[in-house]
Amino acid sequence: RISLCWFRRDLRLHDHAALYHALKSSDATHCVFVFDTTILDTLPYKSDRRVEFIWQAVRELSEALHAQGSALHVLHGDPRVLIPQLAVQLGAQTVYVNHDYEPEAIARDEAVRERLQSAGIGLLDFKDQVIFERDEVLTGGGTPFNVFTPYKNAWLKRLTDYHLRAYPTEQYFAALAQVPPLRLPSLAELGFQPTNLSQLKMPIGMSGAMRLFEDFQQRMARYHEQRDFPAVKGVSYLAPHLRFGTISIRSLAREAYCRGGQGAQTWLSELIWRDFYQMLLYHHPRVVGHAFKPQFEHLAFTNNVEWFAAWKAGQTGYPLVDAGMRQLAQTGFMHNRLRMVTASFLVKDLQIDWRWGEAWFAENLLDFDLAANNGGWQWAASTGCDAQPWFRIFNPVTQSKNFDPDGKFIRRYILELAGCPARYLHAPWEMSADEQWRSGVVLGQDYPPPIVDHAVARELTLAMFKLA
Ligand code: FAD
Repeated sequence: RISLCWFRRDLRLHDHAALYHALKSSDATHCVFVFDTTILDTLPYKSDRRVEFIWQAVRELSEALHAQGSALHVLHGDPRVLIPQLAVQLGAQTVYVNHDYEPEAIARDEAVRERLQSAGIGLLDFKDQVIFERDEVLTGGGTPFNVFTPYKNAWLKRLTDYHLRAYPTEQYFAALAQVPPLRLPSLAELGFQPTNLSQLKMPIGMSGAMRLFEDFQQRMARYHEQRDFPAVKGVSYLAPHLRFGTISIRSLAREAYCRGGQGAQTWLSELIWRDFYQMLLYHHPRVVGHAFKPQFEHLAFTNNVEWFAAWKAGQTGYPLVDAGMRQLAQTGFMHNRLRMVTASFLVKDLQIDWRWGEAWFAENLLDFDLAANNGGWQWAASTGCDAQPWFRIFNPVTQSKNFDPDGKFIRRYILELAGCPARYLHAPWEMSADEQWRSGVVLGQDYPPPIVDHAVARELTLAMFKLA
């Protein structure tokens, strides 16, 4: 029996549900990855860290298969056409994939399934990228949860060893099809240029993910104390690896669950948020482009385009907001605390539609994930499913004082504030003209004055929500 395993957001060989089932039930399993032009053609820039990250991960996957005497077919085009074509060409009876919960991916998989069916080939799909999916965790009434905490409690209650167990693919590697090496198209052949990814020293591929995780295991016990401070190395930085599946969610959840302690428990909770938003997107695909709470679908945003440009460029005059936005532009990463602060600032200080900010993050985040990004934005905008009340508005200066108390993070990204005395770093506009001149930070010249007055903006936003 010949099978084809189609890799998508699961770029690894170990603990891989679809690969495991393919290997176990066939004599020769071929592997394929498609650089999907229906996605790549929509990217606004031909230099994109995500494409490079995937390309590097695909290269490592291809080398790992080569080490087993097999190879990775790497194609470039529309998978709706290419996957059925390759399956026929190889004489495969079945194509194996892992579930994807995004509406467009679901439609793509259905199209591929139909084409395969007409060629007499089956498509088998498996849960792999989450611990619990779709309808696996439901309320007592049998409906999907809309609020995180009860979902988390039910998630933990349902969890058994079975859900955390690895798929031992390596025991079945003998069933990988023996194939001579296949050529990997270069990044340029895919129509993309290199980015600054290599300068960022971001560990890439399965091996990079493992290195990051080993490093984080040393720090996991302190996660609950350190995770909110962007200047501290307190988080795992694993999000891009979870996004592209270079590491298995089961291995991470198992470690967090079995280790116990407050740090591990808090981190496990973040992994449960990830499951939660995937589940939510699956059940409510309308959240793409629409407020989860219908009463907030048409908030009267003012959508000032100049303010939006200043926000994107990290030029709002609020140092912590600007530092976060510059981190995003320069590295493709933004610390979670800053995602919350900058998103809240866009919606509740600038009264700009959360969908604009969501789209900017989607273009720039290396770990961009439709479900988590949409969930995060709707949380920050108070249009989402959670219990965050709309009248709770982050004060960007208080956030700055609480979470970057020494201004270490601000100084890292806002070089023009180098001379600013520490006591003014969170609100440089409080300096007198004389102090500005002496510190070399003249507002309006070296660094912008605040784009809005937070106290005034807050009142306007409260009125906007009240109206809705
Ligand atoms: P850690 O703190 O080490 O957490 C471990 C993992 O848990 C993360 O890698 C991630 O997979 C998951 N996780 C953590 N927090 C969340 C969360 N709130 N929701 C869902 N999963 C979570 N996360 C993304 O993966 N992709 C996104 O596009 C994304 N966009 C966001 C947009 C906004 C406005 C906000 C407020 C949050 C967003 N997040 C997103 C969630 C979170 O900010 C990132 O997952 C986290 O900062 C990634 O860093 P880390 O891997 O070091 O996380």
